[in-house]
Amino acid sequence: MPGRLPPPPASRMLRAGRGSGGACDMDDGQANIYAAGAAYVQGRFVPIGQACISVLDWGFTRSDVTYDVVHVTGDAFFRLDDHLDRFGRSMARRRLAPAEDRARMTDILHRVVSLTGLRDAYVAMLALRGRPRIGGSRRPMDCDNHFIAYALPWIDVVPPDVQARGAHLWIGSMPRVPDASFDPTVKNYMWGDLNAGLMEAHDHGYDTSVLCDAQGRVTEGPGFNIFVVKDGRVLTPAHGSLQGITRRSVLELCDELGLPCAVADIPRAVLEEADEVFLATTAGGVMPVSRVGPVAGVQRIMGNDRPGAISARIKELYWARHRAGWHATPVRHDVTA
Ligand code: PLP
Repeated sequence: MPGRLPPPPASRMLRAGRGSGGACDMDDGQANIYAAGAAYVQGRFVPIGQACISVLDWGFTRSDVTYDVVHVTGDAFFRLDDHLDRFGRSMARRRLAPAEDRARMTDILHRVVSLTGLRDAYVAMLALRGRPRIGGSRRPMDCDNHFIAYALPWIDVVPPDVQARGAHLWIGSMPRVPDASFDPTVKNYMWGDLNAGLMEAHDHGYDTSVLCDAQGRVTEGPGFNIFVVKDGRVLTPAHGSLQGITRRSVLELCDELGLPCAVADIPRAVLEEADEVFLATTAGGVMPVSRVGPVAGVQRIMGNDRPGAISARIKELYWARHRAGWHATPVRHDVTA
């Protein structure tokens, strides 16, 4: 299973080139031209290296885009409908309306995965503003919105070996952009603050970072939600963060395990003094943290410098549930258009 093991070897890939991409799927009858990834752009299915947008697209020049990411493990999507629901809400909030309806988007997602032959994949769906039909127009309504989807080999935002020892988490000095300025529940690429935190983390020898808001409350990190465990209670921030699908899964698993859990304001001091910390995302699952800093200027080691017992238990159950088909939608290999 991904998330705990290195990327899937070729032997774990399906037979190459199921369905035609509109081009030849095989270069010489051996290799699948979509093996590195398949995309749907401007109404066509192409190998990932050929997936391009215009430099004039507002999705690029203004980050006028929303997106979602769902993962595939063992040839099945995880919580596909939940991701499509959130994507639909995000598009409505950003007033983006590509031509493809939900049923068509769903077919496209199945097809990009099927083309790659991957059993474990990172699958993105995007809605972009597009470029104005009238040159120089500043009116969003003059743009033709468009839909992009692509499938890539599995991605872990925290590498599996780092997950195994527990990530070292930097608390960034820059405050997270306020919710009132940009709604973090609408998935977006406005990553200026998150990237700054990540660079600070790397400058200081940490693996990744989390940001607090201007009021000093913990929010989220570059591509993940955060959980803090204190005195047996599992907490995740109420503000400044995406309502992650993995976060929802973790809350459900906590209920099942009888672990008290809550979505709440988490002051920075609670993170600094946590018994355990873990991160949660589609691209990696449940990812334990073993060190956090700076705490009074230094790095604080939690517990025995390894993933905590509760984090490990939740992570194990999360993947066991995947193996048992929890919220699974098998990838369809019969979508041809
Ligand atoms: N927060 C941010 C900023 C993210 O980009 C992501 C995922 O990409 C998450 C949280 C986790 O959300 P999910 O569990 O739905 O992948």
